[in-house]
Amino acid sequence: MGDNADALMEQRLRQLEAENWQLMRRVLQLEMLLDVLNEVNAGETLPATLSSVLSVLIGTFGARCGLAIWHDDANAAWRVAANRGVDDAFVDALLQRLPRHPQCDHAADLTCWVEQTLPVCACLQGKRQALGLVALGEKLTGEPFSAEDHAMVKAAMREAATAIENSKLLELSHLKDRFLLNIAHNLTNPLFGIESIVKLLLNGQHGDLTPSQREWLLNVQCGVQQLRMLVDDINQLARINFGRLELQRQPLQIRDVICHTVAAARAHAQSRHITLRVDAPDNLPLVEGDFNCLCQILTNLLSNAVKYSPDKSEVKITARQDAAELIVSVSDKGIGIRKADQKRLFQDFFRADDARIKRIEGTGLGLSITKRLVELHGGRIWAESAFRKGSTFSFSLPLNSGN
Ligand code: ADP
Repeated sequence: MGDNADALMEQRLRQLEAENWQLMRRVLQLEMLLDVLNEVNAGETLPATLSSVLSVLIGTFGARCGLAIWHDDANAAWRVAANRGVDDAFVDALLQRLPRHPQCDHAADLTCWVEQTLPVCACLQGKRQALGLVALGEKLTGEPFSAEDHAMVKAAMREAATAIENSKLLELSHLKDRFLLNIAHNLTNPLFGIESIVKLLLNGQHGDLTPSQREWLLNVQCGVQQLRMLVDDINQLARINFGRLELQRQPLQIRDVICHTVAAARAHAQSRHITLRVDAPDNLPLVEGDFNCLCQILTNLLSNAVKYSPDKSEVKITARQDAAELIVSVSDKGIGIRKADQKRLFQDFFRADDARIKRIEGTGLGLSITKRLVELHGGRIWAESAFRKGSTFSFSLPLNSGN
């Protein structure tokens, strides 16, 4: 009986030890992953990041040596990010051997070849190509790397690649904003020159115009106006993205914003016999916002509703309270938006691939600007639509805390 109990106890202890060991491995794995991700977040450049990641891996596994290399896209070449004790001749041979344009399907070849010399090798695999590679020499203890060790390094590299690609995307999006802002700046002066000259000519200040000259100039004016819209939209988007737009917040009645916007849009709507109907009680709680900015949000939604509606239809603007938010909606009975397009509505430059849209002027930037302005106010924006039946664009605003 006693022997049995001892055996059982010993078995349990062994089980516990094994579980404890597993747990410790798991903690080690998570710690290493965290360290790798910290290095990725702090790294200014890909080589600097890879060099720090290599240090984490060498430290975690107690490796005798290690190597990190990265792909320099600009020069289509592989370069050493860090070499901690790996034979230079091997590194040179490796750099020679690697494909200059490292597409995904080469990743397995790369690691197999390196693993003939260095026991652990993991590729930093981006979505379209290998970004880099990290390899470790034997452990100082002489103990071989287990299958689990290999899996740990590969998992760490996978997470690192995702984090690096995300930060690359962020960098690219900043680059795109700067590029667009540059274009807008460079277009502003010549555009102003053309606008002034066309205006002078159309006013007859340089002599009378023949009917065909007038028509031709009116066409030019129309094109210039479109370009002006685009430049203004790009400028505004870039100002928002670079954090250069400062809101002048004040407690306000949303009804005042609606009345102001509708009054300004009425002439345009009337020219197409479109009725603008407002349903906004005057006892709604106050919101805190920038009056001009909120007018712009509503103007953008209202002008789209009018633009994309048939003549003689109706556009409705409603405002209502929903818990701690105020919801403003603009509904039309216009051309509507296909389901597949609905999730792309708020992306920069998106215009639906619809023949009816193509006939109407637009930049595809109005909704992305509107979304950012709503978000600056702490709100959300969304759309509901039935193709060829109509659309409703709504945005929410948090209520003023003083209500
Ligand atoms: P723009 O109107 O200048 O093209 P927006 O960013 O304001 O740019 O809108 C993006 C696209 O969303 C439009 O080109 C159109 O395809 C679609 N859209 C926006 N509002 C409506 C609406 N009320 N009805 C139908 N489609 C709309």
